[in-house]
Amino acid sequence: MTDQLYQNIKENAAGIDTEGAFPEQEFKWMAAAGLLGNTIADTEKYPIKTASVLKLLKRVGNANLSVGRIYEGHINALKLIDLYGNESQKIHWFKEVKSEKKLFSVWNTQADNGIKIHDLGDGFYRLEGCKTFCSGAGWIDRPLITGELISADKKGWQMCIVPTEKVKPIAVDSSFWKPFGMRASASFKMDFTGVEIQEKDLLGQPDQYYQQPYFSGGAIRFAAVQLGGAEAVLSETQGFLRMLGRTDDPFQQARIAEMTYLVESGNSWLNQAGNNTDNWIKESNSAEKIMVYTGMARTAIAEICTRVMHLSEQCVGARGLMRPNPLERIHRDLTFYLRQPAPDATLTGIGAYVLNQEKTDDLWN
Ligand SMILES: Cc1cc2nc3c(=O)[nH]c(=O)nc-3n(C[C@H](O)[C@H](O)[C@H](O)COP(=O)(O)OP(=O)(O)OC[C@H]3O[C@@H](n4cnc5c(N)ncnc54)[C@H](O)[C@@H]3O)c2cc1C
Repeated sequence: MTDQLYQNIKENAAGIDTEGAFPEQEFKWMAAAGLLGNTIADTEKYPIKTASVLKLLKRVGNANLSVGRIYEGHINALKLIDLYGNESQKIHWFKEVKSEKKLFSVWNTQADNGIKIHDLGDGFYRLEGCKTFCSGAGWIDRPLITGELISADKKGWQMCIVPTEKVKPIAVDSSFWKPFGMRASASFKMDFTGVEIQEKDLLGQPDQYYQQPYFSGGAIRFAAVQLGGAEAVLSETQGFLRMLGRTDDPFQQARIAEMTYLVESGNSWLNQAGNNTDNWIKESNSAEKIMVYTGMARTAIAEICTRVMHLSEQCVGARGLMRPNPLERIHRDLTFYLRQPAPDATLTGIGAYVLNQEKTDDLWN
């Protein structure tokens, strides 16, 4: 069933590769297959392993990177609810996912006119301002957005989850979205000005959104989706060379070999980063180690994706990079989706951490 699901998503990818499109059918299939609620643990006794969530994200990314991007936002929102929601909020939002198949997302990115959350008193709040790069845009039922809380009692960067059908319509600016790739992620600009929410819609305390290691450690999830894209590039390249009968050439063999071990080393990074996160989170003072290790995995996977695309281009040549061959789209999508926040700061953070240690043996034990 699930293999067929991923196959269907893959086959539909070219059909929704347009600005303004959203993978509606894909999320219906995924909801029907139980993929919207399956990262929510039934009991705290049996937490979901991070490595298994990463594998899931990678498979969706392999099928279609835009679907993977939106799905990653959904899973990120559920994780933030799990971390910072009170008991009644968890029951409420998790029921909305499991029973009502509501789709969540996290929209934090903004430009000059970002979000302000004005405290109106008596448990009511009014939003003002816009978010950019809102993947899923108006198709998302429960966007988790962040903004500056303006209140006499408390201030900081506040999370809230907007119950879209219960508030004034959120203005959508799709003209913002003229991307190089990832068209079907529908990452529009959204104007929340005038939207009113209540105390129960606020998630966590101000500034908890940036709490470490969860904030930086979350980068491993987009790296998983990206690696799915690199896997798809390998698979399409191998298929293309077989189709042309160019499999005996030593240069092609050498390139395919390099692509294969690069992708497999990406799998090792994901697996190790997932397992380390689950183990280290139980230890005190482990936040920095988790952030640095995740940063290494994310950086290595970005390099792997870039190199795999480069080798693929050499393998298939110009005619392999033309529609209807899917490599044309996957290259655009992956190149664009590799642009994620703070790559330089992540790299220098790793270097600074290592230079701060007395010695470099056994850094990760
Ligand atoms: C397809 C797609 C979907 C997305 N969906 C969402 C979403 O649903 N929700 C959401 O919140 N966000 C989303 N985003 C936004 C994303 O999380 C990042 O914020 C965004 O991609 C970063 O873009 P950038 O490379 O232009 O960033 P920049 O921060 O401008 O980085 C560009 C380069 O400048 C460097 N740099 C950064 N800061 C400085 C500085 N102060 N001085 C000098 N150099 C600097 C960086 O290291 C990098 O090398 C999405 C992005 C994409 C591509």
